[in-house]
Amino acid sequence: MPGKAIIYDLDNTIYPVSAIGDKLFGSLFTLILESGQHNEDYEAIRKAIMRTPFRLVAQRFNFSDELTQKGIDLQEELEYNETIAPFDDYFEIHNIVADRFLVTTGFRKMQLSKIKHLGIENDFKEVHVVNPVITSKKEVFANILQRHNYAPEEVLVVGDDPESEIAAAKALGIPTVLYDRNKEQNSDMADYTINHFKELALIYNTK
Ligand SMILES: [Mg+2]
Repeated sequence: MPGKAIIYDLDNTIYPVSAIGDKLFGSLFTLILESGQHNEDYEAIRKAIMRTPFRLVAQRFNFSDELTQKGIDLQEELEYNETIAPFDDYFEIHNIVADRFLVTTGFRKMQLSKIKHLGIENDFKEVHVVNPVITSKKEVFANILQRHNYAPEEVLVVGDDPESEIAAAKALGIPTVLYDRNKEQNSDMADYTINHFKELALIYNTK
């Protein structure tokens, strides 16, 4: 039986952060380099910032409280103002009849600017930018289910991060689809693993 709704992640699920990261985070990378707190790990930090929420990166690489706060202050004002291309298989999601939700963790202005320049705002019934200081993906998912009267099994959560949206969905009993475009993850991280969105219709319609 087909479900009712699909909740999508944004970063590295709908488009690759690496395609815009050096431009988007240029001033942040300069701040980190100038702080001298990167030691040998600059490349690892640069990559982590494109994959993982900044506060977690700051903890993992032992940034000082001052550098963490400066990085947060800077990113709260960052916006991306050029066209962004979604992954080439993104448009497959239009072939699936479901209520579509976009739930992304990050800095509000930054995330909204990316959504605008991807031109995808109207693809979704609701767009939520999660500020992890105030709430969580789990709370936002639970709230969507409750407001729309969806049972967990009527929803799918799709994303690239086992520790973020996949974990949050699992905690609520919502079936999970890991979007593993580059086949980098273990296939047991989620209920389903796909590397192309054309596979999602089949899962959604038959699960
Ligand atoms: Mg992501």
